[in-house]
Amino acid sequence: MTTLDRAPDSGIRVIIVGTGFAGLTAAIECHRKGHSVLVLESFPELKLLGDIISFGPNSARIFQRWPGIDEKLDAISHKSEGILLKNFKGETLVKQTWGEEARIFGRKYDGHRGEIHQIVYQHALDSGIDIRLGHKVVDYFETDTEAGVIANGARFVGDLVLAADGVRSKGRTIVLGHEDKPKASGYAVYRTWFDSGKLAKDPDLDFLFKGEEHHSAWLGPDVHFIAATLNDGKDFSWVCTHKDDADVEESWQAHAPLSDARKCLEGWDPIIHKILDETPDPVIDWKLVYRDPLPTWVSPKRRIALIGDAAHPFLPTSIQGASQAMEDGATIAVCLVKSGKPHVQDALAAFESLRYERVRAAQKTGETTRDAWHKADWETVKKNPDSMKLKRDGWLLNFDAEVYAEENYAATVALLGDKAAARDFNLPKTAEIST
Ligand SMILES: Cc1cc2nc3c(=O)[nH]c(=O)nc-3n(C[C@H](O)[C@H](O)[C@H](O)COP(=O)(O)OP(=O)(O)OC[C@H]3O[C@@H](n4cnc5c(N)ncnc54)[C@H](O)[C@@H]3O)c2cc1C
Repeated sequence: MTTLDRAPDSGIRVIIVGTGFAGLTAAIECHRKGHSVLVLESFPELKLLGDIISFGPNSARIFQRWPGIDEKLDAISHKSEGILLKNFKGETLVKQTWGEEARIFGRKYDGHRGEIHQIVYQHALDSGIDIRLGHKVVDYFETDTEAGVIANGARFVGDLVLAADGVRSKGRTIVLGHEDKPKASGYAVYRTWFDSGKLAKDPDLDFLFKGEEHHSAWLGPDVHFIAATLNDGKDFSWVCTHKDDADVEESWQAHAPLSDARKCLEGWDPIIHKILDETPDPVIDWKLVYRDPLPTWVSPKRRIALIGDAAHPFLPTSIQGASQAMEDGATIAVCLVKSGKPHVQDALAAFESLRYERVRAAQKTGETTRDAWHKADWETVKKNPDSMKLKRDGWLLNFDAEVYAEENYAATVALLGDKAAARDFNLPKTAEIST
């Protein structure tokens, strides 16, 4: 199906809060599948915010269903054959390459968050989706038959609301029945993206700019530093994840002096310090917040669902936050086709069931990789450097959220119906009935 051959009107009115990758994917996929979509976003205008972001093969295949997007993303995506993993002294451990993975699972995209976002945002507008910037949602409400939000003093009402409003989601309050406070994760990330002109002139660093684009990670106790060249070496980006218990204010516009990063990388590979010498001061200081997995992503009357970071924030070491946000959007659009307008509540319940365990397993990969990198015993690593490679498992990457929802919706709704019936009649759940 292309945008041009949009499915017939389903009559389902979807309100989406937020134009991150969760909100935009839900909007584009719902629109393609014939639902009518209204998107509200608090930013008054879109700016090229952020730096590097990654989309694995599991979300790349969602982009590839949108006409013209693969070509546009390809033009701005990082292209290296792999990532070079080193210890903090600069000794090479192993190079992890992507060729085989791309052949089996399909391609991935890594690039500037702002640039990729702009392409996707423009695609949503070109598709005719109603997106209203400068609309900060201040409240959510639902009845048995409708759901809606309040923004700019007006009420917006639909059949359902998708709260794609990020890590500090306001939608969580109605879903959980109380205000949910984030906790400090104990980590923060210094991050930057800049013109590599001066760096490329340093003879000690010119190896980064020769041949293919370059991607390296230096791993050490409680810290890792990842650097990449982009756009044919014209741009440079690095991120440095480190211990930080300062506060839980998470913002893409908070800054830290470069000297903070220097201090936390004291004694590390001199190549890193050369890179820091040419890095513009200050850098972004992104505090990673943490939340325990929510007991549910769906409101009591099952007309409001949390999607993306609002439902499940990810650690950067999972490299899956944006991909899982997109999978949510693709899944809910299918569930609504299957449910039809009279059974929207089944669609939201099924959406949560189809996604919950998969998302949790994906979140855990971020914790496992961070711990492997930060708590490494370097003598053991020398004997088995492959243990430092990023886990790139088929269950995670060779996955099509749209097809999975298509194939499993009916069985999921039936199972949920069984469970509800078992609850109503105080019977054991299906899984507990022995045959
Ligand atoms: C400005 C910005 C820059 C980022 N840069 C990077 C990056 O460089 N690298 C990276 O890996 N990740 C970055 N992220 C995070 C990353 O995009 C997300 O972790 C991931 O893609 C999941 O996206 P999401 O749509 O769930 O949440 P988000 O991307 O956080 O999107 C949430 C959206 O909801 C809007 N919103 C929030 N509250 C309201 C409200 N009350 N009413 C209306 N709208 C509301 C926000 O303005 C935002 O546009 C960035 C996020 C933002 C917002």
